[in-house]
Amino acid sequence: MLTCPSKYFWWSLQGVQENITKRVEMFRRAAQSLGKTVFLTSQTSLRAQPLISSIGTCRGRRTLVTKASATEDAAAVNRKARLELAVAYRVLDRYGMNEGVCNHLTLITKATNGEGQVMLLIPHGRHWSQVTASSLIGLNSQNEIVEGDGHNELAASTIHRGIHNIRPDASANCVMHLHSPYVTALSCLEDPRFLMIHQHMMRFYKGVGYDDNYCGYPEAVAEGERLGACMREDDVLIMGNHGLVTIGGTVAEAFDKAYYVERAAMIQLIAMSSGKPLKHIPKEVCEKTYLDSRKKLEFYANQHFNGMMKVILKETPDVAD
Ligand SMILES: [Zn+2]
Repeated sequence: MLTCPSKYFWWSLQGVQENITKRVEMFRRAAQSLGKTVFLTSQTSLRAQPLISSIGTCRGRRTLVTKASATEDAAAVNRKARLELAVAYRVLDRYGMNEGVCNHLTLITKATNGEGQVMLLIPHGRHWSQVTASSLIGLNSQNEIVEGDGHNELAASTIHRGIHNIRPDASANCVMHLHSPYVTALSCLEDPRFLMIHQHMMRFYKGVGYDDNYCGYPEAVAEGERLGACMREDDVLIMGNHGLVTIGGTVAEAFDKAYYVERAAMIQLIAMSSGKPLKHIPKEVCEKTYLDSRKKLEFYANQHFNGMMKVILKETPDVAD
């Protein structure tokens, strides 16, 4: 018996290889009668069907999904991503971690129309305090603007696209590039390595890359790829003579790292400026505390970001526009 729930169409196709074309056609007609377009997600033998673009499995069954509902889902994912990234821009502005109308945060997410992915980015010239969810532009893999209006700054698209190219995994969906004052000052030292002198540095005992070869304004994606290569498997990059990059699977993760890198750099530079001998934390304590911090990173990052999101939404609700 064919049933057609309003949002998803489910259809069990086990053991029907010999008459699957007939069943798909039957389903297509049923969907059409409800004004829906049908596509399947994942089975090779069905890809010849003109209305089928992909196929997937849910609860062990082959599934049929309406194109309309898939697009609605993509649009919802895109909208949520836009809001989170817009909030991050505003929070980092409050923290004094932005640089004029330069610097950039990007997030890879589903395109609103459901066709592939976009890299969300602030349009050049908009101040971080005025970023809204809908103001962000979306770039395709060729850095062409396919969502929203505005100018795509060259440095933004080259740095971020290059890093996303080198780190295409979901754990690097969000990339933040900042010239926040303390970590940027740290990057100007002959040796910008973190000293293990405070609890904040414990989470950066490992997982921090250093680019010791600054080579001018980034003008091509290749420069972003060079920076991405400097990061190796790390999720923080101190860009020598330049600034900072953090990456995360979510906005919250990249944001929380950026905040604590800046605070750690601030503490280190203030302590160094005292001219007094520094008290280093023993290596075994660094190791243990670093491992402890990794277990809690996601939770604390979400708590931090969600707490700040409430502040931003309450005080400047237009961020959700
Ligand atoms: Zn920069």
